[in-house]
Amino acid sequence: MPARIISGTEIASQIREEIRKEVAYLKEKYQVIPGLVTIIVGKNPASVSYVTAKQKTAHELGFYSVQENMEENISEEALLNVIMKYNGDPLVHGILVQLPLPAHINESKVLYTINPEKDVDGFHPVNIGRLMIGDARFYPCTPYGIQQLLIRSNIRIEGAEVVVVGRSNIVGKPIAMMLCQKAKGANATVTICHTGTKDLSFHTRHADILIVAAGKPKSITADMVKDGATVIDVGVNRIGVTPEGKARLCGDVDFEGVKEKASAITPVPGGVGPMTITMLMLNTIKAAKLTRRLQG
Ligand code: NAP
Repeated sequence: MPARIISGTEIASQIREEIRKEVAYLKEKYQVIPGLVTIIVGKNPASVSYVTAKQKTAHELGFYSVQENMEENISEEALLNVIMKYNGDPLVHGILVQLPLPAHINESKVLYTINPEKDVDGFHPVNIGRLMIGDARFYPCTPYGIQQLLIRSNIRIEGAEVVVVGRSNIVGKPIAMMLCQKAKGANATVTICHTGTKDLSFHTRHADILIVAAGKPKSITADMVKDGATVIDVGVNRIGVTPEGKARLCGDVDFEGVKEKASAITPVPGGVGPMTITMLMLNTIKAAKLTRRLQG
């Protein structure tokens, strides 16, 4: 029987409804409007489209939102000054710097300058460290979205064999850390695979939950997947252009083949992607509550 499709579009839309209610509540009860600034350097088309989508969502959800478009040749010092300005702006609760940055700017220095209480991307070492010790403040948005997809689709994580393909700091490592915590919606046995893994399919075939974030189109095929597994495809690969002029996308998983073997699978597009932006909004609400020391 073909796999159940886990629709990130549908689950993200449920969460956005919850966010709308929360925004209305914060406004009415505390006169707080969640504020998000997105900072982009240069005009990389993919980055522009990601930032535009983030701003559009923030606006639709009733946030206070600001977009800062910086010139490609902005100096590192000038960029750090912009971040520090927003660190001190009480109307802005979340600061997001769109990556990648031009080569002359030190990415770590930029991310480390963001006030950890406004780090809604969850990339500051303080927040990564807190996540690791089981006292997370902000989860990085894509891993947060993956965990919510699993929980809200009633996939059993506790005790599951989870295999993560990819060990990036933004997806692979944090999702592995999150799912191995002794906590609700976690408590799994987690294996992380990467290009140094000797026999990738040996590991993937043992996974009850297989999470793929390798950036390699259709590299996970049906023979690498256990019968009845849940497969989360994080990959977004541009493989051409549609007749309408939009980017043609595919995931890291061979969807057509794997859906015949898995019990549940995320599509690309429409799987993890819509969740990522939604979790950024949830983190911004959390940041707004944090600055006002509100509960919940
Ligand atoms: P990344 O930084 O390029 O990391 C890729 C990871 O996959 C690396 O750890 C690499 O291993 C590993 N890898 C690559 N080929 C492999 C192979 N053949 N076998 C085993 N491991 C392999 O990528 P990323 O930033 O995590 O992103 C991964 C994918 O997710 C990309 O397609 C990206 O566009 C997508 N993405 C989607 C979202 C979303 O919202 N939907 C968000 C973020 C990323 P090494 O460490 O050994 O090099």
